[in-house]
Amino acid sequence: MAEENRSFTDESTNLEPESKNFIENFIDEDLKEGKVKEIKTRFPPEPNGYLHIGHAKSILLNYGIAQEYNGTFNLRFDDTNPVKEKTEFVDSIRKDVEWLGADFENRMFFASDYFPIMYEKAVFLIQKGKAFVDDLTAEEIKEYRGDYNTPGKESPYRNRSIEENLRLFTEMKEGKYQDGEKTLRAKIDMASPNINMRDPILYRVSHMSHHNTGDEWCIYPMYDFAHPIEDAVEGISHSLCTLEFEDHRPLYDWVVQECEFPFPPRQIEFAKLYLTNVVTGKRYIKKLVEDKIVDGWDDPRLVTIAALRRRGYTKESLAQFVKLSGISKAQSSSDYSLLEYCIREDLKLKKPRYMAILDPIKLIIDNYEGEGEILIIPNNLENEDLGEREVHFSKELYIERDDFMVDPPKKYKRLTMENEVRLMGAYFVKAVSYECDEEGNVTVVHCTYDPATKSGSGFSERKAKGTIHWVDAKTAFTAEVRLYEQLIDEEKGKLNADGSLNFNPNSLTVKNCYLEKILESAEPLESFQFVRNGYFCVDCKDSTEGHPIFNRIVSLKSSFKVN
Ligand code: ATP
Ligand code: MG
Repeated sequence: MAEENRSFTDESTNLEPESKNFIENFIDEDLKEGKVKEIKTRFPPEPNGYLHIGHAKSILLNYGIAQEYNGTFNLRFDDTNPVKEKTEFVDSIRKDVEWLGADFENRMFFASDYFPIMYEKAVFLIQKGKAFVDDLTAEEIKEYRGDYNTPGKESPYRNRSIEENLRLFTEMKEGKYQDGEKTLRAKIDMASPNINMRDPILYRVSHMSHHNTGDEWCIYPMYDFAHPIEDAVEGISHSLCTLEFEDHRPLYDWVVQECEFPFPPRQIEFAKLYLTNVVTGKRYIKKLVEDKIVDGWDDPRLVTIAALRRRGYTKESLAQFVKLSGISKAQSSSDYSLLEYCIREDLKLKKPRYMAILDPIKLIIDNYEGEGEILIIPNNLENEDLGEREVHFSKELYIERDDFMVDPPKKYKRLTMENEVRLMGAYFVKAVSYECDEEGNVTVVHCTYDPATKSGSGFSERKAKGTIHWVDAKTAFTAEVRLYEQLIDEEKGKLNADGSLNFNPNSLTVKNCYLEKILESAEPLESFQFVRNGYFCVDCKDSTEGHPIFNRIVSLKSSFKVN
């Protein structure tokens, strides 16, 4: 395992790694050798889907480097492909990058704005004898290209004169040719061991409208030609991309060099972020959305940034996750539990802890007299600054079904016919009898309480076996609570025999639960700990005024199972 690839347990004892990553080392070298003066990075998404957690890594890496070196960071939409405009994707990407805290004010660009300069550079290459117009069909080009073991064959059109190439390229631009009839290719080396260098296509004819430039162009640049030019035009010093572009780097360098940009950017590759038990990859997420396996791009079971935000993840927790995952050249998968660890740690001291009963049974205190009373309960025992609240308590309460057992195992520390337990922030209670439904499920537990054991009264004579949480039946309200598990069941293998994804049928459980009164006025995206049940966040899409719906962000312990 690469050194940069620190494991989460190593890191939890040393959360502030001192050493720089390999990208920072390269940058330091370039600065020292005077190759660059100012560090400029960019994040170049193609607006063809929502961003996911892997993109968050790229954004935070690029933005973090710009910050660290007092440089600049650009958001650039890589929209050189003439596909139908998806303002939805442009808008969502802007929102997500902003939300992550990567500032791109006055630095948002569209690659399609550079079409004129790309065209100029293509003409320039023709003039230098470095590019030619080819008549071979796509099939033939593929055939001529050869493979890893076979060198390529030169196109019979490779030696056209510069004048002829200029004329043909102009005609391509003017719409004289059909799609696929002609291409512009770089003249590099058909025998190169790197297939990307075997006279790659620079421009193709495509009679398609572009969302930004309309019908102005009927030729469009290929990614490998467009991308280095976009970087160079923006004065990017370091173009950070993922490993699949490593073999394209010689071509990237060829383009910026042959186009004679005065300050050629340097491409550096790093490993993509992958995550266990979830689907990353825009194409795959798109399919889940289109097949309606999930409810839109922001379904809280997805790891798009929009979904993570809706689920209740914070930008701080994502930043910490990206940091702990490390920047490396080695391909690896981060564990989903690391992401969960990061959000738990982030919310632990920041959020109040309220009581909610997810699977209720009734608890009746037979010897409790009167209308009830107000108890004062601290909001977070680990952080006094979060203050305390008033909670109503009375004769009838709800407790969790699994906090009472008729025939408990030996180590059971909750309510039984023998064990006395503390009701959190309230009194000691002892079970005296219970009622069941026809199927034998407990529906009501009767107990007695000891008025002398009120929390905070200084009572210390007896020790309770355990403490359980509760809500007051009179004042509690009910709300929909959504419990999530991983979308993909990796224990049985990510894929089924037929190659389809192995979905976890329990990835969403919807429950109607009893919650403490204070939660009734919770606002969308507000989050809390529900004592002993995990962290929850108010759903920002489906909640309505006075009717919050709660998404479970994460349970309190590392477990993928419900309850
Ligand atoms: P996907 O692999 O999900 O289809 P993509 O690479 O097609 O994504 P782009 O919009 O082209 O998506 O990516 C924008 C930037 O984000 C690129 O620089 C790309 O290298 C980077 N990126 C994409 N996926 C990851 C990932 N899993 N980890 C880190 N960076 C990523
Ligand atoms: Mg892409």
